Amino acid sequence: CGVFGVTGVAEAANFVALGLHALQHRGQEAGGIISHDAERGFNSAHRFGYVRDNFTKQSLMETLPGPLAIGHVRYSTAGAKAAHIRDVQPFFGEFSMGGCAVAHNGNITNADALRRELIERGSIFQSGSDSECIIHLMARSIQRNIPERMKDALRRVEGAFSVIAMTRTKLIGVRDPLGVRPLVIGKLGDDAYALSSETCGLDIIGAEFLREVEPGEMVVISKGQIESSRPFHPTPSRFCIFEHVYFSRPDSIIGGRSVYETRRQIGVELAREAPVEADLVCPVPDSGTPAAIGYAQESGIPYGMGIIRNQYMGRTFIEPTDQIRNMGVRLKLNVNRSLIAGKRVVLVDDSVVRGTTSRKIKDMILDAGAKEVHFRIASPPTAWPCFYGVDTPDRDKLLAANMTPEEMREWIGVDSLSFVSLDGLYRAAGEAKGRDKSCPQYCDACFSGDYPVAPFDQLERGFQM
Ligand code: 5GP
Ligand code: SF4
Ligand code: MG
Repeated sequence: CGVFGVTGVAEAANFVALGLHALQHRGQEAGGIISHDAERGFNSAHRFGYVRDNFTKQSLMETLPGPLAIGHVRYSTAGAKAAHIRDVQPFFGEFSMGGCAVAHNGNITNADALRRELIERGSIFQSGSDSECIIHLMARSIQRNIPERMKDALRRVEGAFSVIAMTRTKLIGVRDPLGVRPLVIGKLGDDAYALSSETCGLDIIGAEFLREVEPGEMVVISKGQIESSRPFHPTPSRFCIFEHVYFSRPDSIIGGRSVYETRRQIGVELAREAPVEADLVCPVPDSGTPAAIGYAQESGIPYGMGIIRNQYMGRTFIEPTDQIRNMGVRLKLNVNRSLIAGKRVVLVDDSVVRGTTSRKIKDMILDAGAKEVHFRIASPPTAWPCFYGVDTPDRDKLLAANMTPEEMREWIGVDSLSFVSLDGLYRAAGEAKGRDKSCPQYCDACFSGDYPVAPFDQLERGFQM
């Protein structure tokens, strides 16, 4: 998901709509905005579909007045499918000291257990979302102000959370102690501030990137001041390495590094680790593009756009059913026959999950007359599900959990198949020490099975780590 908030501007909701539009790649299912205005109080709008189709209508935006607003774009992760509009964030709660809106990116790994406990103690849940726990936990806190209540609540929550919240006067941002999901602070003019999942959300409104909210940090912004605190036990951070590979936008800056540059560097690593004689390097657009550029530069093999993407389709993977996902590939991608015919082609994609994308693309490339097809993947084999906010299927549907690399190559039906190594990925992401346990490193659980937080609900359901 994507989260965005602004304080200190006239008609903050318009800024939030722009920010969410820039974060649309993080969630395409639905979006919501809550604003606050001194006269008209809190107002909200939640809609299915793209930001641009909803939050551009003047009639709707006029219902969201005020200088403070937050918003959310939704990407449903496993367990929260078939969304109802009441699952769309931000959520809102009214406490004795006033209202609070909350938008969450990530996944709470003990949400089922918390929900059971809260329902037993009288909470009335409105949605099926794990994120709603935060509001109910806040309602039960005895603290006298909302930021303190939020700290109480989040200390009980496990897993990944980058949270943006707002009261009548304050904009609040928090990252879980591991800092799994991103969150950044931007400054607009003299005393307006923005919080955004990624820096590309700041760029679109012309805000200056100040810094990241640090792992385990809470920032409370009011009256042009940022107050910082550390509500959690300190622990080495474990940012999601897959944000670098796929999830974030290539024009965003994460951990002081350009996402584009990291992806290009993964392609360089791949060319060194898995060279092949070929005539053409093609990306699987758009997610494989920067890595393909790196592969071509390092190998000296010409780069070309052998597959053309229809710009009007979303990210295939995010469509909810297998049937639609299977159709989606053909709706979205087409082969550039005249470039491909008669050539030995290296295809570069970001990841193989179920393998359906790779198999279909191989068919299209061979139909177009390619002589050989070599797949190069800009991440290690995805052998484990993510429980921290990226939608990966159960292990039995993950190709790499059930096949050796050679079996995968044969199943996909290509001449060769190589994945970047985990060490290569760490090198590309600028973490030279790689998997040295003593220094801050990434979460790479979907590749390694090394889960930085035990996924409590999943373990209760019988998941074996
Ligand atoms: P597959 O067909 O192997 O199941 O899907 C892999 C493709 O889905 C990749 O091309 C990747 O760009 C895309 N994708 C979209 N969203 C996700 C996601 O959340 N996780 C992963 N691993 N891949 C995704
Ligand atoms: Fe990211 Fe993978 Fe860790 Fe999930 S399991 S947070 S996708 S690195
Ligand atoms: Mg892709």
